[in-house]
Parts: sequence; C-alpha cells; structure tokens
Amino acid sequence: MVFSCIDIGGTNTVIGVGNDEFSIVEKTDSDTFLQDIRSSLEDILADTGHGLDEMKSIAFAAAGPIDRERGTFHPPNLPVDTVQLRAPFKDTGADIHILNDCNSAVLGEYVYGEDSAEDLVYLTISTGIGAGIMVDGSLVEGSKGNFGEVGHIAVDTKGHRCGCGGTDHWEAYCSGANLPDMAEHLFGYSFSDARELFDAFYAGDARAEKVVAEMQTYNARGIANLVNIFDPDVIAMGGGVALNHHSIIVDGLQDRIREESVNGVPEIRLCSLREKAVIHGLRSICNGHDPR
Ligand SMILES: [Zn+2]
Repeated sequence: MVFSCIDIGGTNTVIGVGNDEFSIVEKTDSDTFLQDIRSSLEDILADTGHGLDEMKSIAFAAAGPIDRERGTFHPPNLPVDTVQLRAPFKDTGADIHILNDCNSAVLGEYVYGEDSAEDLVYLTISTGIGAGIMVDGSLVEGSKGNFGEVGHIAVDTKGHRCGCGGTDHWEAYCSGANLPDMAEHLFGYSFSDARELFDAFYAGDARAEKVVAEMQTYNARGIANLVNIFDPDVIAMGGGVALNHHSIIVDGLQDRIREESVNGVPEIRLCSLREKAVIHGLRSICNGHDPR
C-alpha cells in the first residue's frame, strides 16, 4: 500500500509519495492543481507508476483555513473560494487526512527533525506568520483544525491594518508580504518588497536598519507571547523570511525575549527540516504516527 502527501501552499503544491521509502515527486502550481485535484493527483501518480486505487492514505496540508468536518479548504490567495479535499476521493477507500500546514510542519519536525522536543513550537515567518504547536508530545489542532493563527495576535496599538480586517496584528507588521507596508506606514519609507528591504539592510542603509529594528521588536513581542502561553522547550523557525535571513530574524532573539517573558527562554533555532517540514508531517500521519 502506498500513500500520497500533498502540501498545498499559497503559490506551489508539493506532492510526495511513499510506502517503505518516501520521496517528493512533484512540485506544481497550486492554482492549477486545485482546479481538479483528483485528475491532478492521478496524473502525477501515473508518472510514478502508481494509481489512486493503491492509496492507503491521502494527506493534505493547506496554507489557509480548513474545515476538517466538511473536508474543505478555503484558499486565501487563489481565485477559488472553497475546495473539496475529501469528496473527490470518497470512492477510493483511502483514509483522507487534512491538516493546517503549520500543524503538519510541527509534526514533521517532531517526528523526523533533529533534537526534537515534547513541547515544540514551529513558527513560520513567510508571506504570513503562523505556528504549529506540540504540547507534551500532542499536536494541538483546535475545533476545525486551524489552531495556531498567531500572526493575528496584536503586538502594538498604532492602528496598522491587517489583511484579515483586524488592526495591529503581528503579521501586518512583520510578514514578508507586509514589511514594506509597515516601513511605509510607520516611517514613510518606500521599499518595493521585503527582498529590497533586506538587501538595503545588508548594504548598511540607515532607513532599512530602522525598519528591521522595529521588526525585531515586534517579533520578540510576538514570540514572547508564545513563550508565556506555551512554555516550549524549542521554537523551530521556518518560512522564507526566517530561513533566508537567519542572522536578522533568529540571532539575538533569546536576549530580547528574556526581557519580555515570564517563562524561561527556550532554544530558538531554524527548523531542521527547513521547507520540507510540512510534507514530512503528512508522511508521519500516513505512517500511523498520529499524536492527536
Ligand atoms: Zn490579522
């Protein structure tokens, strides 16, 4: 019996197939993949010599709101409103698992990562900000499976709007997509995107240094909230912003958090599985490791 793991990101979808061995076989455009997920998956599996009828499990991780009961996903950045993940595969007899992507990532890091911990926070800083959390070795998922939308906790009172409609949310200040808005709103500086901001910072630009310092303050505030609530052993950081700018995002965090946290300061490091944590979380579920 074989299983399929499907990590549906905001831009790309990554597919893994496994039995005794596990391999990532395909990376495709999410918009195209979601238009007809059954045909998309059948085509990809055909290239590996497998068919849907062989699948023991099909596991999805979604970058956006899911409803496990209904088996649906609501992609935030794609033209489609609701995608049925379970219904198209009902007749296959496969077990269908649907997870939030950060929840899957923390599970991947917990099961297959290096130096794992029973109390583990996976924090992604990328287009958005989110977390997956293991408490005492159990994955916390919430009522519909959307636990860990930590990007929408408030970190200031300046009235900066978040894409979700709220104000002063961490993500509105510090996500990769929103850093230029924060620079504009708080300082009147114009950067076309986060990459330009970070390049300017590395080149010693004083404006970029101010914006990055503000970002580091907000990140410390947000992470201190997580430390105060969850008292983790380890915070493993992922997402493009953290993975590509380790020295700016991770270095020095522990000292900053010490000032803001009542609880002891955890180990803070990059996620050892890097961007593959999500799909390995799905792999662990398909392999029968289900700590829920
Ligand atoms: Zn928000």
